[in-house]
Amino acid sequence: MRPFRFVRAADAGSAIDALLREPESAFIAGGTELVNWMRDGICSPGVLVDINALPLATIDIRPEGVRIGALARMSDVAADPRIGREYRVLAEALLAGASPQIRNMATIGGNLLQRTRCPYFRDTAFACNKRVPGSGCSALGGENRWHAILGTSKQCIAVHPSDLAVALLALDAVVHTRGAAGERAIPIEALHLLPGETPERETLLEHGELIVAIEVPATPFSGRSRYRKIRDRASYEFALVSVAVALDLADGVVRDARIALGGVAPKPWRAREAEDELRGRSLDEMTVTRAAEAAVRGAEPRTGNAFKVDLVKRTLIPVLAALGREATA
Ligand code: SF4
Repeated sequence: MRPFRFVRAADAGSAIDALLREPESAFIAGGTELVNWMRDGICSPGVLVDINALPLATIDIRPEGVRIGALARMSDVAADPRIGREYRVLAEALLAGASPQIRNMATIGGNLLQRTRCPYFRDTAFACNKRVPGSGCSALGGENRWHAILGTSKQCIAVHPSDLAVALLALDAVVHTRGAAGERAIPIEALHLLPGETPERETLLEHGELIVAIEVPATPFSGRSRYRKIRDRASYEFALVSVAVALDLADGVVRDARIALGGVAPKPWRAREAEDELRGRSLDEMTVTRAAEAAVRGAEPRTGNAFKVDLVKRTLIPVLAALGREATA
């Protein structure tokens, strides 16, 4: 590991300034991601700016929504009873991620900036366009069981790993940042980028731009929401497929819907065509089946991951059916 300088920042302004002074620098909070990257040789910042002293760990629930500080720990947010009651999909997604020990350390802001678990990205012995632009993609002709079926490019087929980001997408969340150009409010759907020709660029954030909070509006669908994750083992594993669903139902009929998918695309994937199949309809077998078919329309499976097309449908259908039963019980 390359030697680095460690700077403790007292406030957001000094943290951003310290980062901007060095092109090869990074914020560090929980460190559960960044330290892995440094150990694996994926990145080697010369300066680490510790932001743990910044007052950004509050969870503020108001009638219009919840504002979660970027430094709130995953476990604290998941354990908040108001989150479990009013934004259940969030609590379920957080508890489905990582391990209890990591959830105690990892922050909400850092969770959104996780990088792909593509094994070729994490192993510097292999070609990877995301790690070294122009070097090739080892997954295209290699082992691609974990990889994406939607939103890929010829340069990269990796999936985004965050469960939380999928749940936030189903809740119309907004990411608040502060950087050299001032403050920004970024809809979560715009935060992560598709690979296109530049797979090395994964988010809209500029160097030195700090996530300060995530806001989730109180909506008619946030209260009736679920997260389901399918993975190779019961804990401490990333999603093969996950679904986040939030529904506004009245008299058994869907007034509005949000469906987001994880484990299938290079960014949390909003399944808008599936949502369209639900609006104005009751959640009978034909409707939920049509929605599930629509969720994977246009999928491009690779040699090792065609099973994900069916798995998305088999995951989404029971979640929709359960929410429908719950509404009419
Ligand atoms: Fe690298 Fe993306 Fe290919 Fe994985 S899928 S090897 S991250 S370019």
